[in-house]
Amino acid sequence: MTLDRDLLDRIRSRAAGYDRDNAFFTEDLAELRAAGYLAPRSLLETARDQRLLAAHAPATALAVNMHLVWVGVARVLHDRGDTSLDWILEEAAAGELFAFGNSEPGNDLVLWDSLTTATPVEGGWAFTGTKIFTSLSPAWTRLGIFGKTPDDRLVHGFITRDTPGWRSLDDWDTLGMRATQSHTTVLEGAVVTGDRVARILPVGPNADPFVFGIFANFLLLIGSVYAGIADRALELGVAALKRRTSLKTGTTYDQDPDLRWRIADAALALDALAPQLESLAADVDGLADHGADWFRLLTGAKHRSTEAARYIVDQAMRCAGGGGYRADSELARLQRDVLAGIYHPSDTESIHSTVATNLLGPLG
Ligand SMILES: Cc1cc2nc3c(=O)[nH]c(=O)nc-3n(C[C@H](O)[C@H](O)[C@H](O)COP(=O)(O)OP(=O)(O)OC[C@H]3O[C@@H](n4cnc5c(N)ncnc54)[C@H](O)[C@@H]3O)c2cc1C
Repeated sequence: MTLDRDLLDRIRSRAAGYDRDNAFFTEDLAELRAAGYLAPRSLLETARDQRLLAAHAPATALAVNMHLVWVGVARVLHDRGDTSLDWILEEAAAGELFAFGNSEPGNDLVLWDSLTTATPVEGGWAFTGTKIFTSLSPAWTRLGIFGKTPDDRLVHGFITRDTPGWRSLDDWDTLGMRATQSHTTVLEGAVVTGDRVARILPVGPNADPFVFGIFANFLLLIGSVYAGIADRALELGVAALKRRTSLKTGTTYDQDPDLRWRIADAALALDALAPQLESLAADVDGLADHGADWFRLLTGAKHRSTEAARYIVDQAMRCAGGGGYRADSELARLQRDVLAGIYHPSDTESIHSTVATNLLGPLG
């Protein structure tokens, strides 16, 4: 979709206030929803939209990412002939907001196991456990969760906001990405009804299309958000070099060969991101088959994007001089926001393990 220029400007104008006040992006969400931003579209379009949105408000984009991941999972399945999650596509088109309640404290197996229990009850499964970093906490209307059954299987499903048996702790106060309001969610017997169960899978790694859908959408959209942060940092770096003057030379810093090299180096890193993110997104949309290489390719794209974004923001900070270090500067906020990229799965260690396994086979 085409994000309206005025809407993007309004979203950018609100970002500093949400960050300062540690507030949820209520107004952004209302405007994005009204503009149809929550509705399904191809992964390539979604990735481009998210990059643009993140260049205006990183936290707004990151939080909306969680919704768009679920929509993308439903699309991946639909495009491969599985219509079981088509209801997500319909509800997203109608403006429902999906959040991603998967992360758990101390669960470094991420999707391959769960500390949450899923107990069979009449009509569904009752979930008890703690989910951390639930972005969109103040506003979601559908929450995707997963947990482990007594016979060691993993149930993935969705609750609605009016489902009894869950509460959100008002505990989000972080260095960056503050407007995501990713509170802890405590599940106390919340029931996922049978019609809202997405998958029941064995514990451990597997390449079920549902899992592939989560990885493909999550990693490429996370990569796109951080590429968007880098786009904006480069813009701010260039503007600073054109604006700042040197007493030594009597000219602006855009005439300084060292700083010209520095900003060019940032652009070189940035220019590498779009081709990889977009070609992989198009491959997901086009049902390309990368076989056993998929996880290496997808985790690699997330890794290169989040790490490059950190480098690019850092170069922009150096170009901007001390003004960029002020707490109220946009670059300072980008520096805090971009750091969050290192915490999203897959983390750097597990990415290297994925790639090493692809090259060398499993560790003996
Ligand atoms: C801005 C942002 C938004 C995010 N949004 C989402 C989202 O919407 N949905 C989602 O599923 N994930 C989300 N994530 C979570 C992310 O995917 C990671 O799971 C999260 O960053 C934790 O990573 P970790 O494994 O490094 O942390 P951990 O080391 O697991 O630490 C996370 C928390 O758990 C506590 N903890 C660690 N070990 C234990 C233990 N054994 N017992 C009890 N407590 C423990 C820590 O003290 C800490 O408070 C988000 C992350 C960020 C940074």
